[in-house]
Amino acid sequence: MAKIPRLPPKNPRLFRAEVVRAERVSPSIRRVTVTGADLAEFPWMGYDHWFRLFMTLPHQSVLRMPEFTGARWWYPYLAIPEIERPHCANYTVAGFRPEAAEMDIDFVVHRRQTGEVEGRAAIWACAARPGDELAMLDQGITFDCPPDASEVIVVADESGLPATTGILRSLPRDTVGRVIQEIPAEGDRRDLDAPIAMDITWVVRDNAHTVPGRAALHELRRLSTVDTTAYAFVVGESGLSTKGRRHLHRAGLPKDRITFSGFWKHEGAVPGHSDEPTGAPDAAPVTRA
Ligand SMILES: Cc1cc2nc3c(=O)[nH]c(=O)nc-3n(C[C@H](O)[C@H](O)[C@H](O)COP(=O)(O)OP(=O)(O)OC[C@H]3O[C@@H](n4cnc5c(N)ncnc54)[C@H](O)[C@@H]3O)c2cc1C
Repeated sequence: MAKIPRLPPKNPRLFRAEVVRAERVSPSIRRVTVTGADLAEFPWMGYDHWFRLFMTLPHQSVLRMPEFTGARWWYPYLAIPEIERPHCANYTVAGFRPEAAEMDIDFVVHRRQTGEVEGRAAIWACAARPGDELAMLDQGITFDCPPDASEVIVVADESGLPATTGILRSLPRDTVGRVIQEIPAEGDRRDLDAPIAMDITWVVRDNAHTVPGRAALHELRRLSTVDTTAYAFVVGESGLSTKGRRHLHRAGLPKDRITFSGFWKHEGAVPGHSDEPTGAPDAAPVTRA
């Protein structure tokens, strides 16, 4: 496989945009399509290309963005008074049409036990109306498959479904490998434009109260040996990414051939869960050990 160009960019570019439309694409996914004056210039590279998404909170009527200088977005962001500071969370490009300057973003709509939507980005996506403002700070791709990889293994919960979709769409058509994709409901299954020799296993959670990622991890653990020259990309709830990486390493895959990233943390998963904004550098996803 040819070496994949990889960022993150040294000087990530900020794109301002507005909502064009929002629709439910499956039981757990809401797609928000956005456009912007210069969005056609977004340097989309396919794969799991992701960005930091800035959006208003329910009490804010305008999107107050920090003044960015180079790669240092975090301090100018924190300098905004909390009441005016936009929410920031990480999202993947689900679709990009430069000719129309449009990008799709797929949000997992996760709910509390009471049925209310939880999560500030998910709430924003469910309320999104044409004209709502947002901004995106380009972060590039983290998929980092070595050119000599014998096979590609992708494991994700539903927060990684846009990444899985983009990776499969971007991989050379002769790629061999397997995907374990967990989804909350059968209706979240989608057609994937994948190389023919990628074996795809959908794992549908049978219980709405099971922590996302556990079922995918269970399926991954059925793989007892992995080719030492394979490459794996494991993303989703932090337990899936860390335990998945550990299992793959025990099964024979060197650590430097595993990209793993905790896309989010189940509350209760770790004592002392931080209330830090999800876009914070500590929550930055690239973990290639
Ligand atoms: C590189 C990268 C790319 C990502 N791409 C996508 C993407 O394309 N689509 C997507 O939906 N997510 C994606 N995520 C995950 C997303 O950033 C997190 O789910 C984030 O927490 C959502 O922010 P929020 O403001 O809605 O939740 P918060 O307000 O930060 O969280 C509120 C509560 O919701 C819980 N929670 C957060 N996410 C989930 C979830 N997925 N399922 C169940 N409970 C959850 C938290 O544990 C917390 O209890 C990505 C993450 C990274 C690092």
